[in-house]
Amino acid sequence: MNNLKNILITGGCGFIGSNLCKKLIQDENNFIICLDSNFTSSTDNISNLINNPRFKFVKHDIIEPIEINKKIDEIYNLACPASPKKYQGKNAIYTTKTCVFGAINILELAKKNNAKILQSSTSEIYGDSREHPQKENYFGNVNPIGPRACYDEGKRCAESLFFDYKRIYNLEVKIVRIFNTYGPLMDIEDGRVISNFICQALKGNNLTVYGDGSQTRSFCYIDDLIDALIKTMNTKKEFSGPINLGNPIEYTINEIAESIKNKINNKINIIYMPLPVDDPHKRKPDISLAKKELNWKPKISLDKGLDLTISYFKNKLN
Ligand code: UDP
Repeated sequence: MNNLKNILITGGCGFIGSNLCKKLIQDENNFIICLDSNFTSSTDNISNLINNPRFKFVKHDIIEPIEINKKIDEIYNLACPASPKKYQGKNAIYTTKTCVFGAINILELAKKNNAKILQSSTSEIYGDSREHPQKENYFGNVNPIGPRACYDEGKRCAESLFFDYKRIYNLEVKIVRIFNTYGPLMDIEDGRVISNFICQALKGNNLTVYGDGSQTRSFCYIDDLIDALIKTMNTKKEFSGPINLGNPIEYTINEIAESIKNKINNKINIIYMPLPVDDPHKRKPDISLAKKELNWKPKISLDKGLDLTISYFKNKLN
């Protein structure tokens, strides 16, 4: 077990983190340290990994400085509440602290270990975008005092910290801007649109569309995203991004609701509720950079991804 690559995944019990743990542990050269505060997750998602000798769970909040008694080779910083329902409101200040204090603590750990470090940034840094689709060189349109700002500005500040650590300490950093992602291991209570609609339909409840449902998002299936994260970590040293990761096929929220209703239960209704403040109108990644640098594009269609996600939630709800 001496020559293993030690990979630290913060937020390792969350939706993306646990899928990444599952994937990376398949490589017998990897030792996975999964770090999580379990603020919006539990160890349920990693219960199948916990007995693996190449896996270790550490309960810790990245808001506090981090010490790991192993030489770390790579870090994926995925820790942060990520659903609007979870990151706003009473959790808003905690969210900013996770983004900013968390980035500083994890960057310090990377510096001490001379580890490569990948930051999960977000399409939210573009805010209610005035450019469409969004390219990495667009600076965004974020309301700095709105209810989403804790997450959007927190993640923007984290990007700036990552680039400062690169400039000042020559640290190898990678920034990915993740667009809407869905799939197995999402929490039933997550609050984001696809898990909400699927769980509502499976329970025979009405689907809750916010606003008039004409707003758009582009949804990437989790396995495609995981491939892209690993490919980004393996890019050449000079490459830091930021790089958009997502599926560029755009749908209105009404189309998503219709599609899930048709797949699960045609008898339920779609009901309309108020649109949350600052909810972006349109979102679609330009992924030319990912195609060029990673030789990557999403492979799994929405139709197939929804079927896989529906069967996951069916099992979970039973
Ligand atoms: N949304 C919705 N019903 C829900 C949850 C979300 O209509 O039950 C809408 C939300 O207002 C937004 C879109 O779906 O326009 C995507 O929301 P989500 O929370 O999944 O992610 P976001 O892209 O806003 O971070």
